Amino acid sequence: MTPRELARECDRILETKKFRDYPGARNGLQVTHNKLVKKVGWAVDADIESIRKAGKEKVDFLVVHHGLFWGSSTLDRKIRAKRIGLAKRLGVAIYSSHLPLDAHPELGNSIGLLRALGLGKSKCKPFGVAMGRAIGWKVEGGRWRLRDLVNRVALLRCEPRPSRGSSFAGFATRVRVVAAGPVVCRKIGIVTGGFGDLDQVVKAGLDTLITGETDYPTEVKARELGINLILGGHRETEVFGVGGLAERIRVRGL
Ligand SMILES: [Zn+2]
Repeated sequence: MTPRELARECDRILETKKFRDYPGARNGLQVTHNKLVKKVGWAVDADIESIRKAGKEKVDFLVVHHGLFWGSSTLDRKIRAKRIGLAKRLGVAIYSSHLPLDAHPELGNSIGLLRALGLGKSKCKPFGVAMGRAIGWKVEGGRWRLRDLVNRVALLRCEPRPSRGSSFAGFATRVRVVAAGPVVCRKIGIVTGGFGDLDQVVKAGLDTLITGETDYPTEVKARELGINLILGGHRETEVFGVGGLAERIRVRGL
């Protein structure tokens, strides 16, 4: 398949056309080449290091979550030109998907995080609207200790994952936690990346929000509202979608 054909297949899988996204997202093929795709890879960001690594590993179709078109300052344009130049030189096509890849009910970032936290068997409903569509999930019907949830989120940050039985002491400190809600959580919102819409959290009656990052004023408000925030890192919570999509198109054959 050519990069264009493969991108069309990705758009079909992710139902890209159904999504409105932020202007910088520009979902779809962002850099292409005229060869057939032989090796698919993934990265959360289309940064210079990921492109360089893709080239080194002979990846000629790189799936990313944060593409090349965020930001429009002179510096942004300069960085972008460098990245595009390198991708072209190395023959790396770049396919980017933002909100469709957060929201996808099987391959998406949010469902991936939910499963990785061991909540896959719980009752969940769509939650966390961005640009008119839910991109995350709310989980209820169980009881989860805040401490356990924090530890599970902390495990996501271990790279490479330590073998079973290793001590994880210390890792949890890298996850930001605002422990302002109950010690036993019953209604949890999960939205990957940067999500801080407490209006939605309050409206949904959640006691805990698990996301990648949020801003300081949101942390302060959460404390006042008695809501737990577990902030697992923007990148760390968004590895699932790109990995899942790359795997899916690899399995289908190129
Ligand atoms: Zn993101």
